Amino acid sequence: MKIFRCQKCENPLYFENTKCEVCKSTLGYSEKNSSLAALVPSPDAPAGHLKNGYTLFKDDGKHYRYCKNAEHKACNWLLSDEDDGDFCTACALNHTIPNLQKKKNLKEWRKLERAKHRLVYALQRFGLPVIDRDAAPKEGLAFDFLSDKNASGNAQPVRTGHLNGLITINVAEADNVHREYMRKQMAEPYRTLIGHFRHEVGHYYWERLIRNRPEILKKFRDTFGDERADYGEALQRHYKNGAPKNWRQSYISKYAASHPWEDWAETWAHYLHLVDVLETAFYFGINTGAAFGENSPLRMRADFDPYQDGRFAKLLKAFVPLTFALNSLNRSMGQQDVYPFVIPKKTVKKLRFVHRLLHEKL
Ligand SMILES: [Zn+2]
Ligand SMILES: [Zn+2]
Ligand SMILES: [Zn+2]
Repeated sequence: MKIFRCQKCENPLYFENTKCEVCKSTLGYSEKNSSLAALVPSPDAPAGHLKNGYTLFKDDGKHYRYCKNAEHKACNWLLSDEDDGDFCTACALNHTIPNLQKKKNLKEWRKLERAKHRLVYALQRFGLPVIDRDAAPKEGLAFDFLSDKNASGNAQPVRTGHLNGLITINVAEADNVHREYMRKQMAEPYRTLIGHFRHEVGHYYWERLIRNRPEILKKFRDTFGDERADYGEALQRHYKNGAPKNWRQSYISKYAASHPWEDWAETWAHYLHLVDVLETAFYFGINTGAAFGENSPLRMRADFDPYQDGRFAKLLKAFVPLTFALNSLNRSMGQQDVYPFVIPKKTVKKLRFVHRLLHEKL
């Protein structure tokens, strides 16, 4: 993720900021420029929800308002007077949100939105189509954020998953205690909200980018295996017997070993992790391993934008030492590794497939 700078006073800003702590400017995220814009209240601009209308500090002659979810502090994205409707691209994807009368739901929904907005930022940086399912029922994307319990209190387990463009996320996953409990239950080294979003949207883009393109589908099968293998049976087998003993040689996670579709979604999620971490490192100008000599495998220089750079080898070469450095920093603070994975050679091939697909080089 980019580190932004206040357009008025140069103060560094996070993606989620709505106010500059130094010059007190009101801020909003502009999708078109993927920038955090300083705003100027404008009496002429049509008011958004609960907020004024604005012009930009770097005035482009247009009026702006916040997305409707700003009223719940769940979104800081802007709409211009050229945009119809109440919601930004990220929020328009919501099909069901939790009941906000409950305070806990509001807190957890904000965390879900935070992860989802980061996801949509990345999709837009890749130039991927982000289509609202209401506007395009066949090829669009939508989210259901559901709770285990229905109104009468009867427990109904909600499964996080993807079906025909509809991604369901169990709201309880936003509760850190619940998520950690699930992580242990499932014997996973890593479980995060952003990880769920990246994984599930991987299934969606498989349908968009691979399923109906025979040449690419063939290359997919050469790399990940044949996805026509019975999916239900494969998952049943996975939950009954676990992953094969030697899964580490071929897969990024145990779950990836269950079926080619899950291998794809896990690999896709890791590619998105990799690019986000490298983009953040780029904005900080991080170099590692200087003390270890020029040819050390610990050396890396984050001097390129990983969304733009077309060379996968370069991305991987920077990512591996960077995660080593990040894990070491975390260990210094007694925290778990940030990236508790080893990427096997076969997964490198699969990650390269994702990279080439996104750069239209397959
Ligand atoms: Zn400022
Ligand atoms: Zn929004
Ligand atoms: Zn999956």
